[in-house]
Amino acid sequence: MIASAPASSAASGWVLMSRKGFAAPKLSSSAAYALRNQLSSRRGLATAQEPYDLVVIGGGPGGYVAAIKAAQLGFKTACVEKRGSLGGTCLNVGCIPSKAMLNNSHMYHMAKHDFKKRGIDIGDLQLNLKQMQSAKSSSVSKLTGGIETLFKMNKVDYIKGTASFQSPTKLDVALLDGGNTEVEAKNIIIATGSEISKFPGIDIDEKQVVSSTGALELDAVPGKFLVIGGGIIGLEMGSVWSRLGSEVTVVEYLGAIGGNGMDTEVAKQFQKILGKQGLKFKLQTKVLGLEKRDGKCFVKVEAAKGGKQEELEADVVLVAIGRKPVTEGLNLEKVGIEVDEKGRVVVDSQFNTSVGNVKCIGDVTFGPMLAHKAEEEGIAAVEYLKAGHGHVNYGTIPSVVYTHPEVAWVGRTSDDLDANGIKYNVGKFPFVANSRAKTNDDTDGFVKVLTEKETDKILGMHIIGPNAGELIAEGVVAMEYGASSEDLARTCHAHPTLSEAVKEAAMAAGGPGRKAIHA
Ligand SMILES: Cc1cc2nc3c(=O)[nH]c(=O)nc-3n(C[C@H](O)[C@H](O)[C@H](O)COP(=O)(O)OP(=O)(O)OC[C@H]3O[C@@H](n4cnc5c(N)ncnc54)[C@H](O)[C@@H]3O)c2cc1C
Repeated sequence: MIASAPASSAASGWVLMSRKGFAAPKLSSSAAYALRNQLSSRRGLATAQEPYDLVVIGGGPGGYVAAIKAAQLGFKTACVEKRGSLGGTCLNVGCIPSKAMLNNSHMYHMAKHDFKKRGIDIGDLQLNLKQMQSAKSSSVSKLTGGIETLFKMNKVDYIKGTASFQSPTKLDVALLDGGNTEVEAKNIIIATGSEISKFPGIDIDEKQVVSSTGALELDAVPGKFLVIGGGIIGLEMGSVWSRLGSEVTVVEYLGAIGGNGMDTEVAKQFQKILGKQGLKFKLQTKVLGLEKRDGKCFVKVEAAKGGKQEELEADVVLVAIGRKPVTEGLNLEKVGIEVDEKGRVVVDSQFNTSVGNVKCIGDVTFGPMLAHKAEEEGIAAVEYLKAGHGHVNYGTIPSVVYTHPEVAWVGRTSDDLDANGIKYNVGKFPFVANSRAKTNDDTDGFVKVLTEKETDKILGMHIIGPNAGELIAEGVVAMEYGASSEDLARTCHAHPTLSEAVKEAAMAAGGPGRKAIHA
C-alpha cells in the first residue's frame, strides 16, 4: 500500500498538470498526499490495512515483467522505478536504442556501399544523424510508453521514485515529483539492474569520453572513435560509428574479441569480417590511461604482457569494459540482505535473498547480464511466490551480437567441452552454400552444431551470419526439448530460408556417415 507520509520539505508539494499541460497551483504536501490517497483509493489501490502482495523495485525487463506476471496471477502489485520511464537500461539506454542505431546505420552503409551492385541507384546520399537519433528516440518512447499501458491494463501500480528498505516489508520511496512515501508489501523483489563499470582514472564526460549511453547520443560522427573493451557492447557501438564514417579502433586486453561464451572459431571469423569492414583491433593490449590535449583524447596503451608503450589518438573514446550491479541507496545492510564481493545480491536457486520475503532477479544478481535472462527470472520468481515452483534453464540462454553479420550462440563451446573431457561431434555448414544467403548476396559465416558423441544430443549451437539472432531460437528450442541433431536434421525447413543452414549443420553433426547435402 502507499501510506501517506510527511514530505521532507515544504518545497516538495506536488504540481498537478492541467490537461493542456499548464502547471496548476502547487498544493501543500499534506493536501497533495490527501488527494493522492483519494485518487489511489478510487483506482482501487491497497489500503493501510492491506499491504501490497508484491512490490518490485526497478522497472527494467526483470522488474516490469515480474510485476505484470504477478498481477496476472492475482497479486496486488506495485513497481517502483526511479528513472521516470519504464523499461530499465534495456529500453532506455541499452538493447533498444543500440539496435535502432545498428539497424539504421546498417541501412545507410548498405545504401552507400552495396545498393549499386543490386541495381539500386540513389544518387546523392546524405547521412542525417539528427533524424537517425530522433528515429531511435521514437522507438524508445513508443516501447517505454507501451509498458505503462501494460501496467494499466494489468492493474500494476507504477510508483515513480527511488526505493530504499526501511524493514523487510516496508520501503521508503523518494518520489520523483518530490516528497517521500512509505510502501508496505508482503513480498519484495529487487530488480535494480546494473550500471556501467568505470575505468580507474578515466572520467566519463559523455561527450568526448563516453559510456554506451553517450555513444548512443553523439551529435556528430567522430573522425576517430576508440573503443576500450572488445565485448558485445563495444563491438556493436564500434560497428555503428564505423558504418557512419568513423575510423574505429578497438583495444582489448584479452586475445580474442566477443567476450565470455563466444566460440573461439567464431570469434576469429568475426574479427576477420569486422576487420574487412574497416574496424581495427589491438588485442592483448592494456590501457594505461587517458589524457585530453588540444581537443583530442590520447589513450596510452601497452602490450598486456608489458612492453613498449604507445599513444592512440581519438576524437571520442568509448569505455565499454562491463557493467556492475546497482545496490547503492537500497539500504540492504539495514535489513541484512547479503551481497557478494562483486556487489551482486546473493540469492538461492529460488531467487530468495538472505531475508525471507525478499527475492532478487536480473542484472543485480548472478548470471549473464541480459534482458531475456532478467525476464525469465522475473516470471520464475513470481511463480515461486505463487505456486512454490518456477523454471529458468540457464543452459539454454542465448547470446546475440547485433552487428552484421550477427553472432549468436547457446549452450556449450568446443573449448568448454574439451576442458571438461566431454566427447562430441561437430556439424558445420557455411552460409556461402545456403541458397537464401547466396540469393541475398550475404554469405559471410557459418552454423556450427555441437552434439554429445554417445547420444547425439545437441550441446551447443554457434552461428555467425545473417539473422543469427533469430536463427539461434531454433537451437534454443531444440536444446530445451533435449533434441538430438538427427531430430533437427529430420525436421522440414522451408526453402529458400537461412534456417536451412541450421538443418544442414545438424545433418552434418551426428558423426561419421552424417553429411550435409549442399556442402
Ligand atoms: C548498450 C547496451 C546494449 C544492450 N543490449 C542488449 C541486448 O541486445 N540484449 C540483451 O539481452 N541485453 C542487452 N543489454 C543488457 C540489458 O540492458 C540488461 O541485461 C537488462 O536491462 C537487465 O534488466 P534488469 O531488469 O535486471 O535491470 P535494468 O534494465 O538495469 O533495470 C533496473 C531499473 O531499476 C531502476 N532502479 C535502480 N535502483 C532503484 C531504486 N532504488 N528504486 C527504484 N528504481 C531503481 C533503474 O532506474 C532501472 O530502470 C544491453 C545493455 C546496454 C548498456
